[in-house]
Amino acid sequence: MKYVTLNNGVKIPQLGYGVYQVEPTEAGRCVNDALGAGYRMVDTAQAYHNEEGVGAAVKKSGIARSEIFLVSKIWISNYGYERAKASIDESLRRLQTEYIDLMLLHQPFCDYYGAYRALEEAYREGKLRAIGVSNFQPNHFIDLASNVEIVPAVNQVETHVFCQQIRSKEYMDEFGTHTMSWGPLAEGRNGLFVNPVLKEIGKVHGKSVAQVALRYLTQRDVIIIPKSVHRNRMEENFNIYDFELTPDEMERIKSLDLAKSAFFDHNDPETVKMFMGWRAL
Ligand code: NAD
Repeated sequence: MKYVTLNNGVKIPQLGYGVYQVEPTEAGRCVNDALGAGYRMVDTAQAYHNEEGVGAAVKKSGIARSEIFLVSKIWISNYGYERAKASIDESLRRLQTEYIDLMLLHQPFCDYYGAYRALEEAYREGKLRAIGVSNFQPNHFIDLASNVEIVPAVNQVETHVFCQQIRSKEYMDEFGTHTMSWGPLAEGRNGLFVNPVLKEIGKVHGKSVAQVALRYLTQRDVIIIPKSVHRNRMEENFNIYDFELTPDEMERIKSLDLAKSAFFDHNDPETVKMFMGWRAL
């Protein structure tokens, strides 16, 4: 496993396991399988309603807590200083842990400045080992990172071969903030799993399309958290450090970039309206 050092010196595995859309009743089994496959980082969120299952599986695993890196996110209904502060304690309780390794603000909407102050406070109290944001596009990201005391360690944004975040990553790099990819396989959108370029490159290395797509991101110094509920795919997605893409292959994959979201554009007013409707998630 490759580790990356965040801007506060904390080490994070470059490859983790994400549990978005994993049913609360399935989360325990999935995390148990993922830990068995070798993953040591798990990405959950208050809005996924499966922090309890994640925490229970980590506890039951018998693996030292210090060896597992837990990521969670505060949902927008818990923004504002007071609510965010209380919700951090709730996440700690659900995850059955005394600290969360990385806590993010899930979306750049509602009172995120107030919520970020609660993150900073919990970080100073030792409840959080690192703090950051998610889905902050360069405009929101630069604004926040320039006006807080603790610069975000991570910005978790949609990043895959069709939405590579080349320019956004440069802005994050300027602040020493690591890019963490959500949807590293684009959830299969845009025909990712049958893409001819990825298939051809995979053939050369004896690797699957998924492995090529994930390896590409790690070679660009992006942290990734692919998701699958199947143990064999968890293993496949984990097994990406035994080959290397050549500079030519990297260029060919770079050319697949459409530089736009395969899901929704956070700068689109309709997206903002959609999230206001999801405040009660
Ligand atoms: P993903 O790109 O990881 O795709 C997952 C899907 O791809 C699976 O459900 C499965 O259908 C397919 N798949 C996975 N491995 C495969 C393989 N080896 N072969 C064939 N098919 C395969 O999508 P995701 O789950 O949306 O993103 C990963 C994680 O990122 C999430 O679980 C979550 O933790 C995080 N996330 C965060 C946000 C956010 O707003 N911060 C949004 C979405 C996801």
